[in-house]
Amino acid sequence: MDVAGVLRMNPPGDGKKSYAKNSLVQRIFISKSKPFLVETISDMVRSMRRSSSVNGCWPACFRVADLGCSSGPNTLQVISEIINTISDEIICNQLQENDEPEIQVFLNDLPTNDFNTVLKDVAVSYNQDDKNKLRCFVSAVAGSFYGRLFPRESLDFVHSSTSLHWLSKVPDGIDEENRGNIYIGKSSPPKIYKAYKEQFEKDFSNFLRLRCEEMKVGGRMILILVGRSIPYPLASKNFFPLWELLAASLMDLVAQGLVKEDAVNSFNMPWYTPYKEEIREIVEKENSFSLDKLETFEVNWDLREAVAMKEENFVLNKNQSGQIVSDHVRAATESMFVHHFGEAIVDNLFKTYSDHIAEYLRFHNSKYINIVISITKI
Ligand code: SAH
Repeated sequence: MDVAGVLRMNPPGDGKKSYAKNSLVQRIFISKSKPFLVETISDMVRSMRRSSSVNGCWPACFRVADLGCSSGPNTLQVISEIINTISDEIICNQLQENDEPEIQVFLNDLPTNDFNTVLKDVAVSYNQDDKNKLRCFVSAVAGSFYGRLFPRESLDFVHSSTSLHWLSKVPDGIDEENRGNIYIGKSSPPKIYKAYKEQFEKDFSNFLRLRCEEMKVGGRMILILVGRSIPYPLASKNFFPLWELLAASLMDLVAQGLVKEDAVNSFNMPWYTPYKEEIREIVEKENSFSLDKLETFEVNWDLREAVAMKEENFVLNKNQSGQIVSDHVRAATESMFVHHFGEAIVDNLFKTYSDHIAEYLRFHNSKYINIVISITKI
């Protein structure tokens, strides 16, 4: 599968099945990692301020990139948090207007992304005539973050949320060996886990090497990605059945004669959720960045707290839980299932998936594990 050509969050705009309408889980990841962002940006502004009192000026422009920005409400949330933090620091430090840095923001995603919506939202939010706002120039950069995107040593700060668990490709040579699974499953032979782990190591090291070329010395980067709580992914107690239940749903469609078994055997997700210590090892081995922070946090799979917050006394039943999870997984992955299995089966597939999740959540309380890392270019 040509991941960069096929992967696309669900359709442009904000329809019922769109990513814009089904990305609450990613929004929670962004808000839970906000303290890291605020601390890092405040720190950077203060150290720019210190060096400006020595050499008399701010950097002409503070350059930021958000990699894997997608489209919808989450896209501009990170930028506004960055700008608000800089504004707050400026107010605290009582800087003069001509001391304020100008900010340039690059929103990056794959060329398949709905950049039309992104740019319309930008035009509404970053109107350059507004004298009360910091001057912020936003542009879009289409391309894979597994390739070079920016000129040498041009960026001060890089951010990426819920994107880096997407691999550049499905690991080579696993198709015929991973029968009945679409990721590392309980019946996968050990070489499948090894192949996924190695592909992630290659991709993540490559990502660090490329960003090192593009960032200024002392530049900072915050990365938030879905990970796992245990070193070995199949340890039964904490096994997270995100793809196992989707594979089971596909096998239900095989039993009904709607999907060919060979088609399931030849499909694998270009995805890997690392264990925290794997990230540490790769950053240390690659040796372009120093590791400032590496932490994890958990979010319930069916987002029960966030959904309950919307309506007082609201209690999710198991079918609603199944539907919520199925809808948000669908919004992020439907393009790949349509590409491989055809459009006709997807409604049925995600309905079956929703039933499997509902059943599973009757007995288990599964959680997303999120990894946040904060690193500085050496
Ligand atoms: N940051 C947003 C979107 C997360 S969804 C949020 O938090 O809501 C993951 C995004 O990563 C998708 O838009 C997907 O297209 C993008 N993505 C995946 N692989 C990528 C790659 N190699 N290069 C650039 N973007 C990528």
